[in-house]
Amino acid sequence: MIVVAIDGPAGSGKSSVSKECARRLGFGYLDTGAAYRALTWAVMNQKISLEDKDANQIAKEFDYQISLDPNNYWVKSFGTDLTEAIRSEEVAGNVSSVAAMSEVRTFMKSFTRDLVAKSGLPGLIVEGRDITTVVFPDANIRILLTASEEVRILRRSQELPSAATSELVSKRDKEDSKVVDFMTPSEGVILIDTSDLSFDASVAAVIDAIEGVI
Ligand code: C5P
Repeated sequence: MIVVAIDGPAGSGKSSVSKECARRLGFGYLDTGAAYRALTWAVMNQKISLEDKDANQIAKEFDYQISLDPNNYWVKSFGTDLTEAIRSEEVAGNVSSVAAMSEVRTFMKSFTRDLVAKSGLPGLIVEGRDITTVVFPDANIRILLTASEEVRILRRSQELPSAATSELVSKRDKEDSKVVDFMTPSEGVILIDTSDLSFDASVAAVIDAIEGVI
């Protein structure tokens, strides 16, 4: 199985580019941020408490399913379709503090590896913040997708309804950066800066990098 690990900050184009590359290559697509968001939703809706829980206890109590099909993306947790709900400002505002818990990160690491191992797919693009460094440091190919702060803000303001929302994304990136470094490529990680690239050119750059290895 081919594992492509892609990390990067919000606004780097990470999710949309990863999804499109997966479609073109006939690979699966795994958005790891969705699990952090769903766990945050579950805490906010009192489906689960993280107090005094180690990674094994979280694994037992967290109910979560995600589609790996780039053409049919959905997320479910505790019997609820959360595809839309996990994108709310409330979830986005709380996710960084959940993701900063070491027990949560330990759980997510083995949970993600398990999902990938059991997927039965020939290839999978896994995207997040610590995939190239912590979750799959031995992936077949590792890419860090970045863009200048200016470009990321511009992209967000096109995607998001208000400047305030866009500011929240910057705040989230700052919080997340304290926990994992997704701004500088670790050794062996290919850096792709999409600041001056269109969406199609970004997709082409990632596919080129993958095809150079497989
Ligand atoms: O990628 P997305 O913005 O949906 O991720 C939501 C949050 O999940 C991030 O802000 C971060 O706190 C957390 N996350 C993480 N490690 C990952 C993926 C996401 O800590 N690999």
